[in-house]
Amino acid sequence: MGLLVVALVGCEVKKEGDSGSSGTGGAVRKAVAISGAVIIEQDGVKVTYRRKCEWCGHVDGSTHTMDIPRTGTRSTMSFTCRKCKKKSKRIMEGM
Ligand SMILES: [Zn+2]
Repeated sequence: MGLLVVALVGCEVKKEGDSGSSGTGGAVRKAVAISGAVIIEQDGVKVTYRRKCEWCGHVDGSTHTMDIPRTGTRSTMSFTCRKCKKKSKRIMEGM
């Protein structure tokens, strides 16, 4: 009987440790394209996207990768559309 109790307690301690470690992984962020971008994929740290023209809607063929901005902050970058040659702004916000 005594051994059984010890084993059960051991299991409970292990479970608590597992949930605690996964809970502290708060570094996972989410990127949201405010304008000028189409998100292809993101893994909580980096985001891959294509530039999208705000004027003609042209989506650039090449992909770009960047760090996801901190929660509540925006990353802005200007680019020139290859199709209509107008300038657009790529705005990405971290959540
Ligand atoms: Zn364009």
